[in-house]
Amino acid sequence: MVAFPPAATLSAMDTYTFTLLLGAAQAAYAHAYAPYSHFQVGAALLGADGQVYAGCNVENASYGLTRCAEQSAIQGMNTAGVRQFDALVVYSESTPPASPCGACRQILFEFAPGAKVACVNHLGERLDIQVSELLPHGFRMAQE
Ligand SMILES: [Zn+2]
Repeated sequence: MVAFPPAATLSAMDTYTFTLLLGAAQAAYAHAYAPYSHFQVGAALLGADGQVYAGCNVENASYGLTRCAEQSAIQGMNTAGVRQFDALVVYSESTPPASPCGACRQILFEFAPGAKVACVNHLGERLDIQVSELLPHGFRMAQE
């Protein structure tokens, strides 16, 4: 069983990281391709290499092919050869702020169950949470 930090030790991401990621998430949000739902989302994560990887949602006329902003950011991080991240900001104009969907929770969990997540909207409303709190007992392949 994988051990995670106890909830009591959790704290919101530091202001510098949050500000850095929020700017990148907002920039990605502006590029979201959401002609069907009109629900734009931007996400930015801080990779273990110290770089920021951003993504936006990309919809498709074949709805099932739609990709979420978080998944786009994870793809970019992996394309750069980075497999872990420390923090993630998800930006939307949803009230309350949109949090990652179920599929994204599992995808985030694969790389960083202990990462800090801030879901924020245009009104400044914010939810601070950890990936392992978004997906308790997430699926992992047994590792030796
Ligand atoms: Zn999603």
